[in-house]
Amino acid sequence: MNYHIDTGLIYEKFKENGECPLCTIEKIVQEQFLHEFLNDAVMEDNTRITVGKKGFCAKHFDMLFKRQNKLSVALQVGTRAEKIAPLLSEIKSAGAAKKRAKEIENAFNSCVICDLVEESMIKYYKTVAQMFTGEKDFYKILFSCKGFCMHHYSELLKYSSCAGFGVKAYLSVLSGVQKKNFARVQGELKAFCDSHDYRNAYKPLGDAENALPHARIKFYGEKQD
Ligand SMILES: [Zn+2]
Ligand SMILES: [Zn+2]
Repeated sequence: MNYHIDTGLIYEKFKENGECPLCTIEKIVQEQFLHEFLNDAVMEDNTRITVGKKGFCAKHFDMLFKRQNKLSVALQVGTRAEKIAPLLSEIKSAGAAKKRAKEIENAFNSCVICDLVEESMIKYYKTVAQMFTGEKDFYKILFSCKGFCMHHYSELLKYSSCAGFGVKAYLSVLSGVQKKNFARVQGELKAFCDSHDYRNAYKPLGDAENALPHARIKFYGEKQD
């Protein structure tokens, strides 16, 4: 089968047994793009044009700033600033002001890194579905993983048709795994709360100790830095 993306990373991260293997993959993909934007990509004309057009969101600005090579960031932010500067020209009517306000809002709603990460992640969502139908033992790995954050679960649902003739079975395993693991986190939350009852003071907490960190990932995905 012709996969959208190499399956190696999917096997590796799905077997790691984290709360959301796709969050882990997204972190890696994002790091690769951040690295590119701090190194080679900054020299390429095409990249400079796209950075000028879309700019960076605040999250990715901060991430670039936290890493080495501040000059590279400053050059790109400077390119973007040139594109934004005309939005500060004189405004002569309330109508024009309204229009300008919309333009400014739109100008800060785009991010070149967000777009690239999303484009790559869509290939992963499609490939996971394809692997379910095309790879002999992948269904077992999917079945025994700990599910996904709600965002990545919804993305997998969105691209489930890539499982082809196996789509019904895929959806059954996928939703079953998510339901089972959501219930597990609910159970951990309950056990965590129960442990605060003095009657349970000496009971070992087990997995419930991490109830809130697990719920954090299940609800919102892995924390980014
Ligand atoms: Zn996730
Ligand atoms: Zn972004």
